[in-house]
Amino acid sequence: MTCTSLDGCYFLESNMPKQPQHDNCDCKKLQISVSFVKTKAFSECSIEKFLGYVFTDDEKSKGKKSLFESWGYTKENAYELQKEYQNQALKEYLNGNYILKDLDRNGQRLAIGINLKGNSFYAGWMVDVEGKIRNTTPFGGWINEKI
Ligand SMILES: [Zn+2]
Repeated sequence: MTCTSLDGCYFLESNMPKQPQHDNCDCKKLQISVSFVKTKAFSECSIEKFLGYVFTDDEKSKGKKSLFESWGYTKENAYELQKEYQNQALKEYLNGNYILKDLDRNGQRLAIGINLKGNSFYAGWMVDVEGKIRNTTPFGGWINEKI
């Protein structure tokens, strides 16, 4: 059941997966405070998203290398980008500024807006337990595109 993968995950009440997820669902929504969530929440963007994907080559990264280079980034900036992604995504997540995407037994996916040097686009994240989000897709489409 998809609800199993939501166990222990945090969402803003105004922007949460539908509940119940299915007939006879006995999942319970627990109310927790935003201040509590803020003590726990963190975002993780693996450095490999940049070193092992974006900045490899255009074939492997499906054009992301050229895209990031057109914004002035090279693999020298990988750690800076990692930090930037983590900071921006965590802030948006805590403010409820995310789009609920696919939910399956692996978890709930989110699209979160990232801005790099004036370029606004979506990055894909997976919700993990206890306020953790983890980057899955460094570039998931421009913000004005329908995603
Ligand atoms: Zn259920």
